[in-house]
Amino acid sequence: MKVLVAIKRIVDFNVKIRVKTDGSGVDLTNVKMSMNPFDEIAVEEAIRLKEAGHAQEIVAVSIGPQKAQETIRTALAMGADRGILILTDDAVEPLAVAKLLKGVVEAESPDLVILGKQAIDDDCNQTGQMLSALLGWPQGTFASKLELDNGKARVTREVDGGLQTVILNMPCIVTTDLRLNEPRYASLPNIMKAKKKQIEEKTPGDYGVDITPRLKILKTTEPASRKAGEIVANAAELVEKLTNEAGVI
Ligand code: AMP
Repeated sequence: MKVLVAIKRIVDFNVKIRVKTDGSGVDLTNVKMSMNPFDEIAVEEAIRLKEAGHAQEIVAVSIGPQKAQETIRTALAMGADRGILILTDDAVEPLAVAKLLKGVVEAESPDLVILGKQAIDDDCNQTGQMLSALLGWPQGTFASKLELDNGKARVTREVDGGLQTVILNMPCIVTTDLRLNEPRYASLPNIMKAKKKQIEEKTPGDYGVDITPRLKILKTTEPASRKAGEIVANAAELVEKLTNEAGVI
């Protein structure tokens, strides 16, 4: 069984985002970039499937600039077998990503595609669902548990009311939620080994996909700054402040 994992290079979740002064977007100069956290979970899950004897090969795919190679190397150091980098310096929206991934799926014929439930830079939460629609494959989104048995995937999903379990015919699409697993750190020997693993470079044109954006960003603004909190001495003072300062009671 072959597993394809989609990994996005994004601003590291620890970085305090700066908005460009002209409001045209987020300032990426000298900012630490990392693998989207949900995609680390996707890579980890694929590795666990391989360790359990379900998967034989894990292919990590990223769409982005040349530097996204580093993100693929991270996946290879964790345990993926090879990488595919679809090179572009342009921002790529979920529909274009899904179309490109469809191209990769058609070329690679995986049995399972694992994506993050969302990229934490644009928070779209769309790509997995769009890929599923484009391929006509079943999807199990927000997975907190994944079990494979007899050509079927049993996916436990985190939904508002609790947990829902769906059984999907394979090939299928799974998107990861936070509680699916805890991704491993790559060991030094594995980081060294990853340097020798193959990363194939492609372009959107190789898949015949037009990645021209369909959306126009009008303005990016920082959230309004909040006033610092205050510790009150007792309940009476709290009530007094809520009445006279906040005016909420
Ligand atoms: P989104 O729909 O943008 O929130 O992204 C959901 C998931 O799609 C991510 O967690 C990744 O697994 C995948 N994805 C999105 N953009 C890319 C990209 N540029 N390269 C590879 N995978 C991506």
